[in-house]
Amino acid sequence: MIIKNIMAAIDTIAQTQGNTIAYDELGNTHTYEQLKNYSNSLAAFIENLHITDKAPIMVYGGQQFDMIASFLASVKAGHAYIPVDVNSADERLTDIIEIGQPALIIAVDDLPIAVTGVPVISKTQLSDVFNTSIEFEMTQPVIGDENFYIIFTSGTTGKPKGVQISHDNLVSFASWMLGETFNWQSGSNVLSQPPYSFDLSVMDWVPTLLSRGTLKALPKVAADDFKTLFKTLPNLQLNKWVSTPSFADVALLDPEFTQKNHPNLDGFFFCGEVLTSTTAQKLLDRFPEAKIYNTYGPTEATVAVTGLEITKDIIANHDKMPIGYVKSDTQIMIQDNDGVALSEDETGEIVIVGPSVSKGYLNNPEKTAAAFTVIDGQQGYKTGDLATRDANGLLHYKGRGDFQIKLHGFRIELEEVAQQLQQSQWVEQAVAVPRYDADGKVKQLLAIIVAKNNNFEKPILLTNAIKLELENIMMPYMVPSRFMYREALPLTPNGKIDLKGLISEVNGNA
Ligand code: AMP
Repeated sequence: MIIKNIMAAIDTIAQTQGNTIAYDELGNTHTYEQLKNYSNSLAAFIENLHITDKAPIMVYGGQQFDMIASFLASVKAGHAYIPVDVNSADERLTDIIEIGQPALIIAVDDLPIAVTGVPVISKTQLSDVFNTSIEFEMTQPVIGDENFYIIFTSGTTGKPKGVQISHDNLVSFASWMLGETFNWQSGSNVLSQPPYSFDLSVMDWVPTLLSRGTLKALPKVAADDFKTLFKTLPNLQLNKWVSTPSFADVALLDPEFTQKNHPNLDGFFFCGEVLTSTTAQKLLDRFPEAKIYNTYGPTEATVAVTGLEITKDIIANHDKMPIGYVKSDTQIMIQDNDGVALSEDETGEIVIVGPSVSKGYLNNPEKTAAAFTVIDGQQGYKTGDLATRDANGLLHYKGRGDFQIKLHGFRIELEEVAQQLQQSQWVEQAVAVPRYDADGKVKQLLAIIVAKNNNFEKPILLTNAIKLELENIMMPYMVPSRFMYREALPLTPNGKIDLKGLISEVNGNA
């Protein structure tokens, strides 16, 4: 698929198939024609406000049609949008306004804080604009290298950074999603669950709307409560599933989450964190007709840049699920700490070079200079992720550089320990967490585990059983010295296991 202009491509569908449902929020539906008309009216309204040229617009809300219509309106009127989720902490909102300097805020949901000095389109005003048809012609849309969206990183430590993604960055990503690698048919019903402030959401809404599909929104209220979630999911009649592996694990808690109840579900798309072989295997067992894709990438390189189908063979032949092959317009280099390219099977940092790499962080030249680089005239990003590349060009993720610790002189990857713990028949989920001494040196490694159902009378007996089982798999220095058990692991607002949160918790900083 050749995409020249994303907004125009979506509008084309309105011309030929206007009555097709573009967005379905638990039965509240909107068509492609409505998407076009609403976004045109709002774009015309924005142009009439005469805000600073090209300045970004913050769009605040949840899993709603009005969010997508507002995103498209912003870019049609020539402004990047900054999506901010309704469940964000007030402090995050203040930080984003301070750093992002939006020229306008569209409050799809009511803002929880008072904002001064920036015009706000309120919820009621927005619905008036949407319901008034205003003539609009796209004369100054976002194009080429201009920012399409700015997504703020989660910023567990320090201030969030605004990743600037251009129209062409997004075209590179969307063309790949709709290309040969993935079996993405037009007209698919696609789950829209990750918040729009998390770039994983771009993997659901952009390819779907470019291919005449229907977004099946899952609002947070429906996703947070297991009972509601399990009841809602089969009614969505999904063809494709996009989420973090952690969210699929939640769905898998329901024994009814099977092909029988989702007869047309033919694809699972994962990104954002490690996909374990346990999760992949369960999905293959329960969904014999579905393909499972593992994809990898940071927000800074537009959602994902590598991917592959996880088949039975892949699971049988690899301890850890590979993150795939790099997309054809992009290069990945594996480098050591001095920036020297490493050879096959050597572990180093992933550096991504290509047309989907961001121009940098908004209003933050220092952080941009530290993380971005130019290689042979192309934009590159140093991910901080570790990986190897094998003889076939397949990439294997080895954890975050900053989740690498030294214990008694040994270098240990936290994610490696977690993955090995997961091999035990008693372990459902596991993470490994370091405890530091006052000097910041690691003094102990802890395992935090969600155990499978078992009949052990005491946790210590369970621990002994797990240790015994893993004796031949794990190097002794990697075995955590303390095991703690939990009902579930905490997730970040983006739905990934909150490793950083757990680290601060066990170190008394929570
Ligand atoms: P974000 O920018 O929030 O999307 O987070 C990107 C980070 O998530 C990457 O730098 C990786 O550390 C991690 N990540 C993304 N995809 C995968 C994957 N398939 N397997 C393991 N880690 C991943």
